[in-house]
Amino acid sequence: MRLSKIKLTGFKSFVDATTLSFPSHRVGIVGPNGCGKSNIIDAVRWVMGESSAKHLRGAAMTDVIFNGSHTRKPVEQAIIELVFAEVNIPQYPPNADIAVKRQLSRDGQSVYFINGVRCRRKDITDLFLGTGLGPRSYAIIEQGMISRLIEAKPEELRILLEEAAGIAKYKERRKETEQR
Ligand code: ATP
Ligand code: MG
Repeated sequence: MRLSKIKLTGFKSFVDATTLSFPSHRVGIVGPNGCGKSNIIDAVRWVMGESSAKHLRGAAMTDVIFNGSHTRKPVEQAIIELVFAEVNIPQYPPNADIAVKRQLSRDGQSVYFINGVRCRRKDITDLFLGTGLGPRSYAIIEQGMISRLIEAKPEELRILLEEAAGIAKYKERRKETEQR
């Protein structure tokens, strides 16, 4: 599975509809300070269901919506769609493309879609459980994460190892079954 496209509108500095295409397995994003490189990583995390504004470098969740500049007015909503290619997840045909979208308006209302069909946040996190991708997963290694890992308590380390080994999704399903 690989991320092949990110479509952003009204998210942080990306006020106009922008499509970033990642045609190969290795892509570098370069640019001057403040041009929006980290905003792209925030975008991926946000669509995967990140619910902490702090982890997106803001104070409130609505801080991700473009809040205006010298020449542009703030906008009402942020929309991001991630397109994954070569997805091999049991409920989809082999090598399918999957589009995952999140929309947030200024009233704080978030809505999620998988392939254009409205879904819950949980449906998105479930879809990627065990793949290494998620709002806090090891697929995104941010500044300071390596030192946090070195200093992590055994229980915290275990969570990451279980996700990497593909056990996390079975534990999550067992927990759900036990709660029913
Ligand atoms: P560096 O090289 O310093 O890490 P960067 O390319 O990672 O920089 P980002 O942190 O992605 O830069 O982008 C910061 C820019 O995004 C700032 O100019 C900031 O004003 C802008 N920005 C963040 N949130 C919003 C928002 N809600 N509305 C408008 N602009 C925003
Ligand atoms: Mg940065």
